Amino acid sequence: MLPGETAEAMLDNELIMSLIDEWTPRDTYEIRRAAVYQFHAATADKWRQGKIFIGGDAAHQTPPFLGQGMNAGMRDVINFSWKLPLVIQGVCDPQLLDSYEAERSAHAHDLVEWAVSVGKLMDHMAEVERAQRDGLKPPETPEALRSSGYGQGRTQPPIRDGIVLLEQVSDTGSTGYLFAQPEVTDVDGSLLKLDDILGNGFALVTRSNEKLEISEQTRAILNQLDIGVVSLEGLSTVRGRFDRLFEQFESAIVRPDRLVFGHTDESNSVDDLVAKLAKKLTLTNHITH
Ligand SMILES: Cc1cc2nc3c(=O)[nH]c(=O)nc-3n(C[C@H](O)[C@H](O)[C@H](O)COP(=O)(O)OP(=O)(O)OC[C@H]3O[C@@H](n4cnc5c(N)ncnc54)[C@H](O)[C@@H]3O)c2cc1C
Repeated sequence: MLPGETAEAMLDNELIMSLIDEWTPRDTYEIRRAAVYQFHAATADKWRQGKIFIGGDAAHQTPPFLGQGMNAGMRDVINFSWKLPLVIQGVCDPQLLDSYEAERSAHAHDLVEWAVSVGKLMDHMAEVERAQRDGLKPPETPEALRSSGYGQGRTQPPIRDGIVLLEQVSDTGSTGYLFAQPEVTDVDGSLLKLDDILGNGFALVTRSNEKLEISEQTRAILNQLDIGVVSLEGLSTVRGRFDRLFEQFESAIVRPDRLVFGHTDESNSVDDLVAKLAKKLTLTNHITH
């Protein structure tokens, strides 16, 4: 709305139709509902007080330029909903729930900030068009603004706190990011989504199906957390690709929300990886070595 326009006046059907006239003939649509929305760029300072947690628009509101409002809210719920049962069932200490805000807040901040910069880019492009129309020199597009546009290389950030092997998180790795989910065929030729093979909980995904050399303690943790071991051997990708991490590394732990917790490397065996996961999760009855 422009300065001076009121919400009441804007809801008038005749006015709405006059705004659409230039693009769509009146006899091709019907107005079912009209509303004036005010958008915000805001994130809550605190997502938890005792047993009360907030998520969705209660925790963050974004201008609509990125279409990420509800998406971010769903990520909150997906994040929280695998942690809460672990605490309620006594598998993990209640402090696990502090990782909810630690993981989601920075992510929500980043998306809101990105949506704001896309809005500024749109404003700027309108200025460019206006200058072109009036035969004036269009304003320069600053690089920072250009890079916020779709397809300009900006991607969702990894989680940099919480239940993740922090030492592996980088701008180019897989740890802290969503695990790649290709469509695959198995040895029988059945078409499946890798997601379905992983199941709903944690998964220890390995490149080959060689028998895992793991300690008794690791086996106990895998059992306690009901972590399934999934081998990629024998699967062929039909659409998409396996996560890039398998070009270099043998195994990875994928969280129930499909973020990569971490992978094996020169400094981490499967035993190390599983022990670090148990520690991060504040697994009860777990003896750290
Ligand atoms: C015009 C517009 C376009 C959008 N486009 C997109 C898009 O393309 N992509 C996207 O991802 N998101 C989009 N969004 C954002 C998306 O709609 C919101 O992020 C999402 O609906 C938030 O869900 P929520 O459950 O957190 O909150 P809400 O949907 O606001 O739900 C909160 C509910 O709580 C109820 N409530 C409030 N107070 C009380 C109380 N005291 N007691 C009981 N109930 C109460 C409310 O009535 C409401 O039903 C858009 C939003 C708008 C306005």
